[in-house]
Amino acid sequence: MTPHPTNTRFTYGPVPSRRLGRSLGVSIIPRKTCTNSCVYCQLGHTRKRSVSRRSFFPREEVLDEIQRIMKETSPDCITFVGDGEPTLSTDLGWYLEQCKRRWPTPVAVITNGCLLHRAEVRTSLRAADIVLPSLDAGDAETFQAINRPHPTLDFHEVVEGLIEFRRDFPGAIRLEVMLVRGINDSESNLRSIRKLAWGVKPDRIDIAVPIRPPADRSVLPPDPDKLIRAHRLFRSAETLDRAEDGAFEIAGFTTLADAIIGLSSRHPLRWDQAKKLEVAFGKPGQLESLVSSGALSVSEYGETRFVVPSTGKGIES
Ligand code: SF4
Repeated sequence: MTPHPTNTRFTYGPVPSRRLGRSLGVSIIPRKTCTNSCVYCQLGHTRKRSVSRRSFFPREEVLDEIQRIMKETSPDCITFVGDGEPTLSTDLGWYLEQCKRRWPTPVAVITNGCLLHRAEVRTSLRAADIVLPSLDAGDAETFQAINRPHPTLDFHEVVEGLIEFRRDFPGAIRLEVMLVRGINDSESNLRSIRKLAWGVKPDRIDIAVPIRPPADRSVLPPDPDKLIRAHRLFRSAETLDRAEDGAFEIAGFTTLADAIIGLSSRHPLRWDQAKKLEVAFGKPGQLESLVSSGALSVSEYGETRFVVPSTGKGIES
């Protein structure tokens, strides 16, 4: 891994992704711009939830950066995910089309799915190969408890949006269900989520659990027996309860500090992963120096240590 002197404002990685292999992340949304404020969000709390779509950045600038990074690396997937909810960008469809025109690499969008009841949002996603929407609740009350959506979002409309999207979308839909202890992991919760999830008819269902520091520190993964039960109920579902493995791409970073701060501000970085970056830059011991100087902080979740920037920047899903 050789560091290159390039700037990465809108892209990060490729990073190892549990769902998409080596994924080049593209962020087209300002930090923590979202319709929701999920209890498990790795970016922290959403200060101001929004359902207003608009263009956030000059799109040629974003595309230039993707082109520059794609010359240097070959990810398994280009993933629009970013610092919030990507469907809030009115440029999303244009970015997807441009990527499809330029590269054979599959293009994915990770979304909370809350705006899919709008026809223009469904249309904007048509060029994607894979869309990964969330469905964490089987009823309106649980939706409020776990996703804390913008007050104008109606749970039944959100579910209808997912069903409608499935009718038209030619690509793959991988529905993600995040399970949180005591909020949506009871037998009745699981059964009601399953009923709705099967109604959506996704190509695949992934059951996820929080494995990184969440917005609400009281958030915990379900007990193992609940997870086993969920797996049985959802039958063919994949369970995402392990950390991703694999190397982070450091193209775009000139120093270890830039790489760790840049990656950890957007993607959860475990201590062991940060140590591997240290080796890649040939700077043994510098990670500890960055922590003791206050440039980085250490955050623990479960039995895992994470490195986070000390500027208060969080990490994304
Ligand atoms: S987890 Fe995703 S949908 Fe939920 S608040 Fe965070 S960015 Fe928004």
